[in-house]
Amino acid sequence: MSVEAQKETLAFQAEVSQVLNLVIRSLYSNKEIFLRELVSNASDAAEKLRFEALTDEALFEDDPELRIRVTMDKEAGTLTISDNGIGMSRQEVTETIGTIASSGTKKFFEALSGDQTKDSELIGQFGVGFYSAFIVADKVTLITRRAGLAEEHGVRWESTGEGDYSIENVDKPSRGTDVILHLREDEKEFLEDYRLRSIISKFSDHIAMPVEMEKQRFGEPEEGEEQPEQPEFERVNKGTALWMRPKSEISDEEYKEFYKHVSHDFEEPLAWAHNRVEGNNEYSALLYIPSRAPFDMWDRDQKHGVKLFVRRVFIMDEAEKLMPRYLRFIKGVVDSDDLPLNVSREILQHNRKIDTIRQANVKRVLGMLEKMAKNEPEKYQTFWDQFGKVMKEGPAEEFGNKERIAGLLRFASTHNDDDTQNVSLADYIGRMKEGQEKIYYITADSAAAARFSPHLELLKKKGIEVLLLSDRVDEWLVSSLTEFDGKPLQSVAKGALDLGELEDKEEKEAQEKSAEEHQGLLERVKKVLGETVKEVRVSHRLTDSPACLVVEEHDMSANLARVLKSVGQDAPGTSPIMELNMQHPLLGRLDQEPDEDRFADLTRVLFDQAQLAEGGQLDDPAAFVRRLNTLMLNLSGE
Ligand code: ADP
Ligand code: MG
Repeated sequence: MSVEAQKETLAFQAEVSQVLNLVIRSLYSNKEIFLRELVSNASDAAEKLRFEALTDEALFEDDPELRIRVTMDKEAGTLTISDNGIGMSRQEVTETIGTIASSGTKKFFEALSGDQTKDSELIGQFGVGFYSAFIVADKVTLITRRAGLAEEHGVRWESTGEGDYSIENVDKPSRGTDVILHLREDEKEFLEDYRLRSIISKFSDHIAMPVEMEKQRFGEPEEGEEQPEQPEFERVNKGTALWMRPKSEISDEEYKEFYKHVSHDFEEPLAWAHNRVEGNNEYSALLYIPSRAPFDMWDRDQKHGVKLFVRRVFIMDEAEKLMPRYLRFIKGVVDSDDLPLNVSREILQHNRKIDTIRQANVKRVLGMLEKMAKNEPEKYQTFWDQFGKVMKEGPAEEFGNKERIAGLLRFASTHNDDDTQNVSLADYIGRMKEGQEKIYYITADSAAAARFSPHLELLKKKGIEVLLLSDRVDEWLVSSLTEFDGKPLQSVAKGALDLGELEDKEEKEAQEKSAEEHQGLLERVKKVLGETVKEVRVSHRLTDSPACLVVEEHDMSANLARVLKSVGQDAPGTSPIMELNMQHPLLGRLDQEPDEDRFADLTRVLFDQAQLAEGGQLDDPAAFVRRLNTLMLNLSGE
């Protein structure tokens, strides 16, 4: 016996034990889903075989009819789900069942809190798949053989789901996988033929593959009557690919079940679009908008959500060519009649048919979202809260649909009392003041930093709305989205903040006069700060704060510089412009300060405060504290 064939008992990864416990506890109220998960895996395995067999027909061995079988043994108390799909090698079993390999999944586990209610929600996002077997079984035996390997390379895996599993090589004549559930004492309802049939048709009608059960024989066999040697099987589910059926014949329930199957999500989708396109590029597309972001949405290795089929044969599910990155959360299926079956990633790169399908997909999704935003604003808000950050990548990624995507964006705003992102650019434009030409926004590290930034003071006083942008991606967004509906977007922390018609002549004149009057002070301050600032000037955007920092129109915003720094990137140093509020008593005090050292301390404190007020961090916080303390001591001494 080779070393390979020896029986080993191995411990589950700690995370696996954790997920097992959680699954059993949190999904118990919906326990029949175990069957959906196991049938779904069987169907995936059959699809993989069909795909691999395109280039290696021998993999079909002598058994080309792919099917899934559900059988039971009442005496033994077992329920078995068998497929003649791709199967697994010993290594594949250890790697996929017993380990949690992907980095995204690891992160998921780090997110678990130990709080049962919260964690059950998380588990829904994660999709527990195979482990759901332990909801109803106190022992699971999996016997499998990879298609193409010899009989003796079968593998037997077994576990009670309590910390470890055993694995050994066995003979398995037929390729594919049998999952044998040793049902818990109180789960024997899953040995009822009728019960199983109804679960299968509920969950698995849409699977493009027959799910079979043994034909029922009624009555006891007569004395001497021949028992058929092989049991006869019959199909229980519809067994046609859901997306190929006419829309009018598909119920919402079926669409939802199919979603759960393709997306590995437990939640219901928010919306879907099902289309059949005829002509010289024939295909069907069924696209879903999920209701919750997957735990690995930010994971770079994450698989893309739209599966590509060619004439019902599953080809790949990393078809990023079918959907742009900013719509990577969309799930579903595209089934082409016209692409070659041996289509490869390379072919997909430059295929006109694929490009057309992709463009049409994008239009469908944007259309679905526009409709939802208009007719079901609450639902749209759910969508936005989950996927808004991803959608914001859109204008930069897809120039052609920029305006449409921009119409779907939602922001927090000074118009609202809270920080919910629910203001559209069109809402904003609808509320613009007489004479207002620009859409004003501010970017900051947090919603609070944006809302309370000194840069907003003048606009607040004038009652002008400002959009509060505090997602990291916002900087990226505003660098490519510079206008909407003919109205330019303008940062309130950049340039001279020319409010145009919104300011009257007197205000402008007063500003100019103030600048002339205080020329001496401005120069004194600039001398203290030296190269730290580009310029010191009189501000008209402040009403309450003594000072703020701004950058020139085309310079990198201070917020972006901070974002880049925080991810370890170099931000080319542009020094800010310091603006002073001459109405503020502190500046009067500063102007009167005869002692040059104290003047310098005060100036630096003002500069540091301006940084803090916009949510920035000080290069030398200790120096700030020291100066402040010196000034405070002087105060009391006076
Ligand atoms: P998922 O289906 O989301 O990948 P599961 O927990 O359901 O997660 O399954 C984990 C993995 O185990 C699958 O990705 C697959 O590689 C393997 N697997 C499970 N069941 C089967 C099966 N019947 N045949 C072949 N491989 C399977
Ligand atoms: Mg699965």
